[in-house]
Amino acid sequence: MDLRIGNGYDIHRLVPGRPLILGGVRLDHPDGLGLDGHSDADVLVHALMDALLGALSLGDIGKYFPPDDPRWRGADSLVLLEQVVALVAERGWSIVNVDSVVVAERPKLKPHIGAMRAAIADRLGVEPDRVGVKATTNEQLGPTGREEGIACHAVALLQKP
Ligand code: MG
Repeated sequence: MDLRIGNGYDIHRLVPGRPLILGGVRLDHPDGLGLDGHSDADVLVHALMDALLGALSLGDIGKYFPPDDPRWRGADSLVLLEQVVALVAERGWSIVNVDSVVVAERPKLKPHIGAMRAAIADRLGVEPDRVGVKATTNEQLGPTGREEGIACHAVALLQKP
């Protein structure tokens, strides 16, 4: 059996007048902030896509979904994730598991983690117990700590029989 591991990272700015979508789940920020970006700016799903692409040395999401392409304006990142999963499957690889850490001061993510894991697992075609989603604050340090943005780190493990 052949194994591959990939890692991904993403950060988007928190701004007024935008939805806050993480792991495909729409959340309410206490100050009404959301994530800025060309697509729906779902940092969690973006970091996972980069981890999956990185495991197979396929480049990054900017290569497949360039931010200057009008097709991806306001795109549902879960739909983009499906396309990345298809690239992985076309090459004969399957997903063993993924794991992620979202770095956000607010809102509290814990009540929503189950829904995020279920939404991601559905698009990955795996059981939710293969999808790790964790949340941490940055102890009010740095850009995520000052709530200038929300960041996410992710890893993915793939196997080929
Ligand atoms: Mg992004």
